[in-house]
Amino acid sequence: MNGSLDDLDVLCRRLAELAPALDASGSWPSEQLRLCAESGVFRWFLPAEYGGWAWSEKEIVGAYVRIAEACLTTAFVLTQRAGACRHIVESENEPLKRRLLSDLASGRTFATVGISHLTTSRRHFARPVLSALPTEEGYRLEGLSPWVTGADHAETVVLGGTLDDGRQILVALPMGSAGVTVPPAIRLMALSASHTGEIHMAGVELGNEVLIAGPAENILQQGASRARTGGQQTSALALGVTTAAVRFLEQESMARTALRAAAVELRRERDEIELALLAAADGHAVCSNEDLRARANSLVLRSSQAAMAAAKGAGYTAGHPANRWCREALFFLVWSCPQPVLDANLCELANLEG
Ligand SMILES: Cc1cc2nc3c(=O)[nH]c(=O)nc-3n(C[C@H](O)[C@H](O)[C@H](O)COP(=O)(O)OP(=O)(O)OC[C@H]3O[C@@H](n4cnc5c(N)ncnc54)[C@H](O)[C@@H]3O)c2cc1C
Repeated sequence: MNGSLDDLDVLCRRLAELAPALDASGSWPSEQLRLCAESGVFRWFLPAEYGGWAWSEKEIVGAYVRIAEACLTTAFVLTQRAGACRHIVESENEPLKRRLLSDLASGRTFATVGISHLTTSRRHFARPVLSALPTEEGYRLEGLSPWVTGADHAETVVLGGTLDDGRQILVALPMGSAGVTVPPAIRLMALSASHTGEIHMAGVELGNEVLIAGPAENILQQGASRARTGGQQTSALALGVTTAAVRFLEQESMARTALRAAAVELRRERDEIELALLAAADGHAVCSNEDLRARANSLVLRSSQAAMAAAKGAGYTAGHPANRWCREALFFLVWSCPQPVLDANLCELANLEG
């Protein structure tokens, strides 16, 4: 394994120090991403031939828990960047890979994904929100991608488009292309610093040299690039926020015995989910990714609120980490949340039999 756990410790300490100011300002985490580049984090996700360190899924999931405990926004931006890299790596378009991946490994460039409209967003509309019309040279894009993290900082966005016949394509959209505009990022209840927002496309002409995959039906379910909505990395981030909240509760419980039983029980549940998550990432799943995600969602909501209850009124004041964790925990109800996970969350919230 390239890169040491000591480097990860140092990185996480610094990210944790910067997290409150990042939450308050909503500014793009440039310094955090610079530190990640310096520690080689971007190399974890890439094969050696492009300058990567090819960390295993288990190593990545473990590291995501640590980074998310320190700073959820940085961890989240990393997942979107890593998702873009993964789609490019899995493409059969070799010239595109050679052109993009080395700069992504070093951190010289930033890439992100705009694919939610193919899986979990705007699926109830009669027409696709982003259409791709075949042309002589490639495709013309028309419409919008509703959710793109770091759109205003990306050189490349891995973007999904839908053809008239329902088949889909993935392209590596160069953000400088004529007809691409990025409205100001959306103000969010947490994670505003992720600069998530729409990308608009008005007659954007692309050549086949930027085609990643397709056209094909359900492109994200195809071959190597199967969609990973509800996947392990999402659960890892929920577990990171849980860890921060449980640690707070444990610290408070040292002087307040009334908090001890809750701290012990939440720690036990957290450790159990972590074991199952790491086993799944290692290819020894004891339950489905969606089950794990539903459990991680439930725990992050309960543990962040337990931290708030322990912090009392002080926790409700702006700047206290307990209210940041509560706001961040709600993100897991809406981010990359496939129907079975949503169903499980609603069952629990409504106290229905699962
Ligand atoms: C902070 C943040 C960052 C994100 N970053 C990215 C990213 O970088 N890349 C990416 O690809 N995705 C990203 N996503 C998208 C995310 O993964 C989900 O796809 C998104 O949260 C789905 O929410 P939606 O409002 O678009 O869903 P929709 O299903 O479009 O729901 C929107 C509204 O439509 C109505 N509605 C929903 N379903 C129906 C129905 N069946 N019938 C009638 N009305 C209905 C409801 O009123 C609902 O509020 C991000 C999301 C968030 C919140």
